[in-house]
Amino acid sequence: MLHSPIDATGKKGVLLNDEGKWQPQGRNGRAYLFTNVVNVTIGVKEDRQLRTGLHTVADICCYQCQEVLGWKYEKAFEESQKYKEGKYILEKVKVMKENW
Ligand SMILES: [Zn+2]
Repeated sequence: MLHSPIDATGKKGVLLNDEGKWQPQGRNGRAYLFTNVVNVTIGVKEDRQLRTGLHTVADICCYQCQEVLGWKYEKAFEESQKYKEGKYILEKVKVMKENW
């Protein structure tokens, strides 16, 4: 099943793995960083230890079917990760589009 949480501009997120930079560890493989998503509900904030350090995150779910699609970074504790605050991670397998 596909969902439609892509940002309003229609642009895809930064393809981090192919940039040779930070590689988010989506639970199901490659994931994307977005500045905005739509058609989702945001869950409860919680502190989570990720590969890149401790973050406060909230799961984001499809507003139609409630499947978890990724998470939002509410707060990063490490200075080098601050750029992710307020951004969203979506797992590719959940929101696949052609030519991604
Ligand atoms: Zn859905």
